[in-house]
Amino acid sequence: MNLPQISIVAPLYNESASLPHLVERLNRLMDSLALRIEVVLIDDGSRDDTSLQMRQLALTDARYHCVFLSRNHGHQLALTAGLAAARGTEALFIIDGDLQDPPELLDEFYKKLQEGYDVVYAVRRKRKENFIKRSGYYLFYRLLKSISYVDIPLDSGDFALISRRVADIMNQMPEESRYLRGMRSWIGFKQVGIEYERSERMAGESKYSFKQLFRLAYNGIFNFSEFPIKFMSWAGGTAICIALIYFITVVIKKLFFEDIIEGFTALLFVIILFSGVQLIALGIIGEYVLRIFFQSKNRPLYIVKDEIIDKESVKK
Ligand code: UDP
Ligand code: MG
Repeated sequence: MNLPQISIVAPLYNESASLPHLVERLNRLMDSLALRIEVVLIDDGSRDDTSLQMRQLALTDARYHCVFLSRNHGHQLALTAGLAAARGTEALFIIDGDLQDPPELLDEFYKKLQEGYDVVYAVRRKRKENFIKRSGYYLFYRLLKSISYVDIPLDSGDFALISRRVADIMNQMPEESRYLRGMRSWIGFKQVGIEYERSERMAGESKYSFKQLFRLAYNGIFNFSEFPIKFMSWAGGTAICIALIYFITVVIKKLFFEDIIEGFTALLFVIILFSGVQLIALGIIGEYVLRIFFQSKNRPLYIVKDEIIDKESVKK
């Protein structure tokens, strides 16, 4: 059996405009390298003709291995499906389907892998998105780094080359709300970052909705940090201290100065403030309960509708 050494994994959601460019760049890359490479494309329930293009591709070019999900499951789960389907015996190269991650870096990343690293991840030097999005990313990665119990490198996404053993471990991790770059850091082994310039999208618009981006950020924070729950005890403790100090001042005033005309507004303010704090606390607990709830259902993470793979390479 002639298994590929490297799998290039790219999830696609409504990428019919970028796909021809992606294929062209990948073909050129594969022709230039003396490695057995397969390309694993995952159709994340696209509604344009991405899946049709993928089908034609997989049927005409044996290097393309296509997986079709039953509906849109989101980028992280599409990638998870790709990692599970990939057969590369040495390494898996994870890229975006919109060519924001230049596939030509494979060579450089592979050299690092051969030096003994298990994970070679890409670090963005510069982003080419608008100011608001850029600042959002910037702040989020710094916040996560300061509160996380795993050392997740700054400004690195899912774009990485991971060794077969790291991929195997990732495939065994059953967590339902997935934050793959965090899981990758958590696994450990020797990891190294390589800087690169993130390109602009080849065609079309970002397929990440604001809601999806938010959920990803939430998953990062709630799955890789104890901060939210610690924060609640901290906020409660602070509130009690403030209340005690206030109480003591009132008693002293009463005993020595006799002037305790206390305002009604102050009372109202305190009630509203602490009801708010309590609601936030409940929300944070709810967030954890929700995660336990979904995890306990034990559903499959995604559903594969169809898979096209070169028959020759599967034969034993
Ligand atoms: N993607 C996906 N499912 C989704 C959203 C995005 O498979 O629900 C794919 C998308 O086709 C692209 C990659 O994930 O190949 C990264 O998405 P995108 O470029 O939209 O994100 P951004 O680069 O804007 O963060
Ligand atoms: Mg993109």
